[in-house]
Amino acid sequence: MAHDHDHDHEHEDEAGHEHEEDAQAAAEAEARRRLALAQIRQYGDAALRLQAHEVTEFDDDLRRLVERMIALMHDAQGIGLAATQVGVLRRLFVFEPDEEGPRAIVNPVVVERGEETATEEEGCLSLQGVRVPVERATRVVLEGKDPNGDDLRVELEPYGARIVQHELDHLDGVLIIDRTDDEHRKEALATLRPRVVLR
Ligand SMILES: [Zn+2]
Repeated sequence: MAHDHDHDHEHEDEAGHEHEEDAQAAAEAEARRRLALAQIRQYGDAALRLQAHEVTEFDDDLRRLVERMIALMHDAQGIGLAATQVGVLRRLFVFEPDEEGPRAIVNPVVVERGEETATEEEGCLSLQGVRVPVERATRVVLEGKDPNGDDLRVELEPYGARIVQHELDHLDGVLIIDRTDDEHRKEALATLRPRVVLR
């Protein structure tokens, strides 16, 4: 899931001064973001539409994958990333809803879903330039495993609940354009359509 600007926890320079060092740091961050996005499958890639399989081996390969996904999520300035987005058809995702740091959930299953829903705009690291309103439950309880194979249970309130529902969708080949209304879907598809290059 792409960074939600309404919940931006990065600090803006209050005084509005653009120091040279800040500008350089921003340019470096932007270069890292572009590099990360180039490694994340983009709309049109078949992997984004496939069903991911249950993880059975909790080994070093899995833990390396989790580390790589967390690094990519950070570099891409996202708040969630599913394995299918890096072309790996295994049921796991990483996410970071707050300052407590990144978390990974393997074989996640929703065991409780609140009845209350909310509609908010979502972005996706695989759908550049698209933000569409999506209705989600405001509370979910997930069970799964951590990367070592130990049981995990997490209760999530609106912001985190939205992220994990988005990432869970990725594991079933579902994208935000499938969850929005017809008008926004049409607009999004126009943005995503490869542009005709005129020479
Ligand atoms: Zn996404």
